[in-house]
Amino acid sequence: MENLNNGANELFICKARWLTILGFPVLLWLYSGRVSPELLFVSVIFIIYNYFLSSYQKKFSLSRYSLFLSIIDSLYLIYIFTLTFNESGGLPQVFYFLILVMGIRHGMSKYPLIVLINILLYLCTSVVGSVYRKITLSPELLLIQIIFIAAFGILSSFIFKRTYQQHLEKEALITELQSAYQQLCIYNAQVEELANTDPLTGLYNYRFFTQRLDREIDLSKRFNRPLSLIIIDIDHFKDFNDTYGHPSGDIALKEVTLIFKNNIRDKDVLCRYGGEEFLILLPSTGIEEAYTCAERIRISVEQHCINMPDTSDSVSITISGGVACYPIDANNGEQLLRIADEVLYTAKHKGRNKIHRRR
Ligand code: GH3
Ligand code: MG
Ligand code: MG
Repeated sequence: MENLNNGANELFICKARWLTILGFPVLLWLYSGRVSPELLFVSVIFIIYNYFLSSYQKKFSLSRYSLFLSIIDSLYLIYIFTLTFNESGGLPQVFYFLILVMGIRHGMSKYPLIVLINILLYLCTSVVGSVYRKITLSPELLLIQIIFIAAFGILSSFIFKRTYQQHLEKEALITELQSAYQQLCIYNAQVEELANTDPLTGLYNYRFFTQRLDREIDLSKRFNRPLSLIIIDIDHFKDFNDTYGHPSGDIALKEVTLIFKNNIRDKDVLCRYGGEEFLILLPSTGIEEAYTCAERIRISVEQHCINMPDTSDSVSITISGGVACYPIDANNGEQLLRIADEVLYTAKHKGRNKIHRRR
């Protein structure tokens, strides 16, 4: 595999290495009835070596030493190969093991080279070993073993490649899913924002207000603190539209929105109720404070001049407002809105450009 998860690879190789380090002396002892002190010594060294690698593989990031580790593994397996060297030519299967270990460690791109190196190692060790031990090796046997090692390399490369491709496909799918999910979250947030926003003024709309009102009432109940509501309605706005035109009416709506914003706190919630009506929720605010705020807004609007786009006229408008407070005027959100609306109409009937409250 293409060095996908080197830490996990090395850990896996360490586990597989135990099989050889512990298994080989036992098998040799079962087969020949004796184990040389030299093999015992090498085995003890490798037990310490493998224990060290499996315990500290995270700390030392073994992937950096993969070439060194492969050389050590090759030397150890060649040593085992030479120990089993007799007339039949040793255990060529150790090179299968070496191909797999190196394949896991160095990745698919080096796999053909790994197979070639192992064939050469097998060939060289067999020739050197036969000369050293004065054994005549059969060339046919050597050739058969080389063909088997090569075939093993080709077949295992096929399995590695497929696993690697499946892994890549899975990774690509996960990445695709993650980005689609992120996109979906962004769209959801945008849709939510659009659903809660009034396009003309950019304020929250009535839909948002109703959700927020319930939440604020709950908080007021829980923390035993007042919640005030101001309803504002522009006076004679129909006449304004009729006189200056609808686009000028839109400008007036945007300008009063700015005045409202400048006269409230960050924690207050300003919404467009619809048409030329607005709502302001004032958390932790009593009726007196809310009334003062509404009066401040009324005066600011009255004093503000709106410049008409087509003419050089500058016009001012007035607003009327109703103020109500939870819990003194109402027991719930619905009642609070109704009471504020009722007192707004009192302000209208009493001549407009006024803020009213129940008491
Ligand atoms: P009152 O003092 O009793 O509130 O009188 P009014 O004329 O303000 O009230 P009415 O309900 O009769 O008229 C509201 C007007 O607000 C009618 C409509 O043309 C205007 N209006 C509502 N929404 C918009 C808007 O988005 N843009 C503009 N330009 N005008 C709007
Ligand atoms: Mg109205
Ligand atoms: Mg009006």
